[in-house]
Amino acid sequence: MNAENPPVVLAGAGLAGSLLAIFLARKGKKVQVYERRPDMRKESISAGRSINLALSERGIRALKAVGMLDPIMEIAIPMKGRIMHDKTGNLVYQAYGKNDSEVIYSVSRGILNMKLMDLAEAHEGVDIQFNHRCTGMNLDRKEVYFQEETSGKAISVQAETVIGTDGSASALRLELMKAGRFNFSQDYLEHGYKELTIPPDENGNFRLEKNALHIWPRGSFMMIALPNPDGSFTCTLFFPYAGENGFDALNSPEKVLSFFEQEFPDAVPLMPTLIEDFMNNPTGSLTTVRCAPWYWKDSLALLGDAAHAIVPFFGQGMNCSFEDCVIMDEKMEALEMNWTKVFPAYFESRKTNADAIADMALENFIEMRDKVADPKFLLRKEVEHLLEDKFPEKFIGRYVMVSFTNIPYREAFNKGLEQDKILEQLCQNITKAEEVNLEQAGKLLG
Ligand SMILES: Cc1cc2nc3c(=O)[nH]c(=O)nc-3n(C[C@H](O)[C@H](O)[C@H](O)COP(=O)(O)OP(=O)(O)OC[C@H]3O[C@@H](n4cnc5c(N)ncnc54)[C@H](O)[C@@H]3O)c2cc1C
Repeated sequence: MNAENPPVVLAGAGLAGSLLAIFLARKGKKVQVYERRPDMRKESISAGRSINLALSERGIRALKAVGMLDPIMEIAIPMKGRIMHDKTGNLVYQAYGKNDSEVIYSVSRGILNMKLMDLAEAHEGVDIQFNHRCTGMNLDRKEVYFQEETSGKAISVQAETVIGTDGSASALRLELMKAGRFNFSQDYLEHGYKELTIPPDENGNFRLEKNALHIWPRGSFMMIALPNPDGSFTCTLFFPYAGENGFDALNSPEKVLSFFEQEFPDAVPLMPTLIEDFMNNPTGSLTTVRCAPWYWKDSLALLGDAAHAIVPFFGQGMNCSFEDCVIMDEKMEALEMNWTKVFPAYFESRKTNADAIADMALENFIEMRDKVADPKFLLRKEVEHLLEDKFPEKFIGRYVMVSFTNIPYREAFNKGLEQDKILEQLCQNITKAEEVNLEQAGKLLG
């Protein structure tokens, strides 16, 4: 590598790293990305954490900025709302937005990642090296260390600067810890997750409503299902690790089947490979990582899950990571690529927002697994949509702010707290959304 003109080095060619490489290349930077895993475009490997993801406005904005939205929309399936399945097979539908323009999209993680890598490599100066695991760096010298996974060979690379896009278990984050005065917390949920499948029917059609996110809320646990373009659904069971109702207890095919028949009776006939999937697929853990600061001088910054891993219940981890890229790009532009200024400005702008979405994601777990089955909660959601309709200038619900606008997460969080109080008052003595007192609503909304 030419020491006169060293590249910006990224560790991790996941969703955030591949997208950030494009933004950097567009600023004329030479970019070298090192990815621990083999090239998923050449070798069939599990894309990692989830087969499909919910893409919403913040992610859409970032993809649009690099001209990537159209190809992604070709493979995206709109989900207009959620359909709740109770134990007797009754279905309740709840729209996400106030109209069909406010939808979230189910997108294949693997295809999205591969398309971003293709686009990154199509830019002059972006090179992605696979099977290279980052093992650390020298912050003062801006020297990054990798191990070539197949040969075991160690290499060192001189960088202009380094950005850690190496996910929730970031190796580069450890360097910030070693540097001192670094705040860090990692909180695991008591729940893990397991992916299961509802294949298409014999004619290749979806076995459930295609344009929805399906939820089987069961109080302390839940299963969800998102559609895939091939007519299948990927189901995810979010379930405690331990206890009577926990992964540890479901340790035989008989126990798994009897549990599913009891809890998800309408899903079982749609899941012919349930037992194999359950016994063979790994159980993934769910964690929230908070840390600060996300940078060291002009040598290293963290972006995406490396800086702020969150639980998946608001469908925002990737969307937030993509928004990081947009903000990093804005700061690079405004501060003329001066990393000494860019990194602190990016961190100041993002940290409070990342903390806010981390909290909202944790809250949403309770909403999804428990509250969506509660008629009072459903009434409240209807009232929210009514207020959005009648007072569009004054009221945007929190879910809408997070998923369908670019209003900073912190602002959405704070406004959500005010809305909670107003909605509680308005819903006190009513049983239908139409009964809401609009005059009182107008006054409360100010
Ligand atoms: C079950 C589940 C469901 C989810 N659903 C959604 C959703 O619906 N919507 C949403 O917005 N988000 C969702 N997320 C969150 C989303 O997956 C992440 O926020 C997103 O992947 C973050 O991107 P990233 O590039 O920062 O990290 P990653 O996607 O994890 O990429 C990190 C990359 O770095 C590589 N790497 C790791 N260590 C090293 C190393 N030492 N050296 C080199 N390379 C390394 C990895 O191989 C990987 O390619 C979900 C997460 C989970 C677990």
